[in-house]
Amino acid sequence: MKTYKEVTETRKTQDKLFCDICKKESNGRYLGDWLTSSVNSFDNEITIKHSKREVTYFYDTGSSDELEVDLCPDCFSEVLEFIRSKGAKVDYVHAEW
Ligand SMILES: [Zn+2]
Repeated sequence: MKTYKEVTETRKTQDKLFCDICKKESNGRYLGDWLTSSVNSFDNEITIKHSKREVTYFYDTGSSDELEVDLCPDCFSEVLEFIRSKGAKVDYVHAEW
């Protein structure tokens, strides 16, 4: 028979979001959202993420590394402009629901 007791745990939750380049704090309605003139703050989060994994030959062990960069819309526009200047043809995929 298992018995249980109540415990109090502390955990980290996201408190605020700042742009990693200009340090501006997000200003959206929801944590991590960015208000812009073209986006009526709803799930407008900008994070560039890179993850890589290395596994052993038999895939039973390995390691991974992740990198995340949070950006405000202004800094993201500059990064996007740079990426496009290098010849990448990237654009938004529109969807309606
Ligand atoms: Zn910024």
